[in-house]
Amino acid sequence: MSEARSAINSADRKRPRSQEIFDRAREILVGGVDSPVRAFGAVGGTPIVVDRAAGCRLWDADGNAYLDYVCSWGALILGHAHAEIVAALAEQAARGTSYGMTTELEVELATMVRRGLPSCERVRFVCSGTEATMSAVRLARAATGRDLIVKFEGGYHGHGDSFLSKAGSGLATFGIAASPGVPQAIAALTLDAPYNDLAAVERIFHAHPDGIAAVIVEPVAANMGVVPPAADFLRGLRELTRRHGALLIFDEVITGFRLCFGGAQTLFGIEPDLTTLGKIIGGGLPVAAYGGSRDLMELVAPLGPVYQAGTLSGNPLAMRAGVETLRKLAAPGFYDALERKSNRLADGIRDALAQAKIPGRVERAGSLLTLFFSGDPVRNYEDAKRSETRRFAAFFHQMLQRSVFLAPSQFEALFVSAAHEDEDLDRTIAACREALAAIAG
Ligand code: PMP
Repeated sequence: MSEARSAINSADRKRPRSQEIFDRAREILVGGVDSPVRAFGAVGGTPIVVDRAAGCRLWDADGNAYLDYVCSWGALILGHAHAEIVAALAEQAARGTSYGMTTELEVELATMVRRGLPSCERVRFVCSGTEATMSAVRLARAATGRDLIVKFEGGYHGHGDSFLSKAGSGLATFGIAASPGVPQAIAALTLDAPYNDLAAVERIFHAHPDGIAAVIVEPVAANMGVVPPAADFLRGLRELTRRHGALLIFDEVITGFRLCFGGAQTLFGIEPDLTTLGKIIGGGLPVAAYGGSRDLMELVAPLGPVYQAGTLSGNPLAMRAGVETLRKLAAPGFYDALERKSNRLADGIRDALAQAKIPGRVERAGSLLTLFFSGDPVRNYEDAKRSETRRFAAFFHQMLQRSVFLAPSQFEALFVSAAHEDEDLDRTIAACREALAAIAG
């Protein structure tokens, strides 16, 4: 039996209650999940079924504890069930969970967002990253009077029709090139370029003069695994879009408030026209947002003709979680500490790789990390796809057996949170050394 198979089987034996719940889930939820990557499709075995979580730990339905590096897919930069956020949520819940009218909390959170991201002079809250990117593209089309958009292969911007070609995250995991159900007429409006390839973007602009409404980009790619932008890639996009009258949309759903108090745009000093946010700004509750200059955003209803609305948008529970989270992130030294920890983990994994003599590389941007099982540099989706995904699957299960929960796909990031202490990181590195030794050869 292969190492991977035996790791899966022995882990499944320790999770009978999870197995029983997941079997029931499969009878009522599509594939037993509400979002595809959760199904362990790329790594095999039965997904863990979560019972509760605290700090950097998850417990499954059988009472097994795991060090969690998924952290709700990057939403929980403070870790799970942070005491002050839990208390604030309890207090807010007692005052009502949804009003469908403006609250001071929305003003507070939007003001904090603008403090970190000055390009967001005006902000609109929505409930998911998908809603934010769909709305931003609609606004870009309305503002420019053009229909085409450019995205990057392996980039993921949610499941809006316009974004489901050559996309990352779950589509990369499951090898889905484009989704059926997206009308050809809509798919034809999305043009894909390789990430980090300015010349390709330039060619697209030349092929479609006056046709491109916007370029949407993850300023640090994190849905094909973590792929940082090459020097001048983002600046080049800024110049090209300006020159051709198109808008530049930074999709900072992952990078927003992850790399610093602000976004990749703050770090790299490049101002996009529109920004999409999600995950961290909701502190683990369903919040996302899009924002930009006052002129652009005032094209949105009720001030302008671009329609976009939401029953639960700006929900007070979610706003409260976001406000409390961003307050903590604004504390001096917060990101320095996270950077130090993430570097320690990345170095530890690199050492373990070298010791096991396994070809691989750790890409890191702040507290976002990916261990690619590839000996070559990873600059784009084509490179990422050259990784040995079977080796990743074996590694994933060896780590899970050692109580470390990574995202169940080669094409996702690992998220370090403020709740991961040095001893947790050292335990993770030790597990990594053993896991790599087990799969070497
Ligand atoms: N944009 C990016 C960069 C993302 O990573 C994601 C989700 N991981 C989305 C958009 C979509 O967000 P949601 O899952 O909240 O719809």
